[in-house]
Amino acid sequence: MHDIPVTRAAARKPIPQDLKASFGDYFSDHMFQMEYTEGRGWHDPRIVPFGPLQLHPSSSVIQYAQAIFDGSKGYRREDGSIHLFRPQAHIARLNRSAGELCMPAVDPDLVLAAMRKLIDLDRDWVPAKRGNAIYVRQTMVGTEGYMVVRPSKTYTYLIFLCPVGSYYSEGAGPVRILVSETRVRAAKGAIGSAKAGANYAASLKVGREAAAAGFSQVLWLDSVQRRYLEEVGTMNIMVKIGGRILTPPLSDSILPGITRDSVLALMRDWGMEVAEAPIDIEDVVTASRAGTLEEMWGVGTAAVISPVGELAWRDEKIAINGGQTGPVAAKLFEHLTGLHAGTVPDSHGWSVAVD
Ligand SMILES: *Cc1c(COP(=O)(O)O)cnc(C)c1O
Repeated sequence: MHDIPVTRAAARKPIPQDLKASFGDYFSDHMFQMEYTEGRGWHDPRIVPFGPLQLHPSSSVIQYAQAIFDGSKGYRREDGSIHLFRPQAHIARLNRSAGELCMPAVDPDLVLAAMRKLIDLDRDWVPAKRGNAIYVRQTMVGTEGYMVVRPSKTYTYLIFLCPVGSYYSEGAGPVRILVSETRVRAAKGAIGSAKAGANYAASLKVGREAAAAGFSQVLWLDSVQRRYLEEVGTMNIMVKIGGRILTPPLSDSILPGITRDSVLALMRDWGMEVAEAPIDIEDVVTASRAGTLEEMWGVGTAAVISPVGELAWRDEKIAINGGQTGPVAAKLFEHLTGLHAGTVPDSHGWSVAVD
């Protein structure tokens, strides 16, 4: 077993009782922290009170955005037990992101043990209401202070917890999406397949423009032709056209979502035809005019399944399924939230008990 010492918080914060659409407004009492030093490896794994970090003003995270993160969730079941959803896959993806930014990999066994111990310690923070969850944020940042552009020789790794409600203010209802033709989320050959902070910095400006115009998310097109669907906000995208379900194939500009992977596995279990193939925005528009654009939805840990009710592209407003949640999105949402709650058989072994 991993020996992870605990320093308890002197005072416990009040635990929010009504989370509604809260996402990241509250942080639990403790966090896991460890450091990396070149030549020594990861050291000093520990659980400490949640609080600020001290950083060198010229640390690589501050100057050159050497920062990655990952987000997974844990759920409280009716019997009071707490289960994490696919934590190993999220830890493996953090290590993949680390490789993209020349950062060191963590020991997956140590990190899983740390997650479980931290959640067990702060278990009163895990909400009981169905759809609510404890959001588990892993973060790694370069901490060395220097000026030349090169990878840091020291790092800090953290895990902290946020009790969260349903991600969108509309609840699980369909959202309005702006298709961005001017800006892209990630270029071909860049770091779009890593959960790197820099990718989100690049998405802020158009995200703000979309929000000001009344849209909840941006649909990103590819960086070369501005034509093929890539992602929607911070979710992978799926569409059903003429009975066929499609999702863009993974590439260096698409984040390999764990929810995407789960959803593909479930739909294949159910015998649905699903293709990982490029989706041309022109074909989506043509299908909408022909009445064969049946459904579109985003998939990601935060919202789980987020139906798209309307797309704005150039001068066109494309309503999808009359702005209503379609049957495939609804079935996926029910099944995944059932898996989270432990009310649906976990045939893939995705849930991991905290204690
Ligand atoms: C996190 C994220 C996703 C979804 O990944 P999940 O593992 O399903 O949470 C998709 N796209 C982007 C850009 C993301 O940051």
